[in-house]
Amino acid sequence: MGLFSKKEACPVCGGEVKGLFLVKIGDKKTLCKTCSKQVSMQKSLLENATPEFIQTHLAYRRENAEKYATHRWTVKITSIPGLQFGLDEAGRAIYLIHDDLHVDEENPVVFSFEQLTGYELLRGKKKLDGMEDTGMVVLETTLSALGGIARLVNSDSSAHYDTFHLKLTTTDPYWSEIDLKIEFTDSQLHGLGGFAGDMQRVCQIIKSIIRKEPILSAR
Ligand SMILES: [Zn+2]
Repeated sequence: MGLFSKKEACPVCGGEVKGLFLVKIGDKKTLCKTCSKQVSMQKSLLENATPEFIQTHLAYRRENAEKYATHRWTVKITSIPGLQFGLDEAGRAIYLIHDDLHVDEENPVVFSFEQLTGYELLRGKKKLDGMEDTGMVVLETTLSALGGIARLVNSDSSAHYDTFHLKLTTTDPYWSEIDLKIEFTDSQLHGLGGFAGDMQRVCQIIKSIIRKEPILSAR
């Protein structure tokens, strides 16, 4: 029976394949827990990935971990639900941690400034901000957009759930398109310790990098 059939070994490292949340690659092969934990790439790439492709990728991820350890992260933003962001302005790099990237604190995805090519912020399906205006403007446009949500929500006493989509394009071979889903309630966005200000800050930094404008270092 299926339940008792002998499992195939991990096609990448030969290790035992057991546990939950394991990554599946092309040809219906499943990676072991150790390999699964290190993989971070777009779903479309994963679907057709060969064991050799994953091996190359894991080497890339090991280099990423070294890069992450080498940088000096002078800005770290952790207040946005599900998202962590870091900036090394002098070393010209950012890092991102998010479930949609399948990474945690051990090996965040690092992008050099040069790798970032596009940015868009959506609330639900509605576009709030894009590359058209300077990074400076996001502080105002996003603020007013976020303020608009607050006004809308304050008239309703029940908890209001909402979603941002932070969409990026990059030249990274494994993440040419990123769509980070940020789910929140109004009280998380505004109020004491709300993340609205940090959300603007992250957007302003990313936009400024892509538009090759100066980043406002002061917080
Ligand atoms: Zn493995």
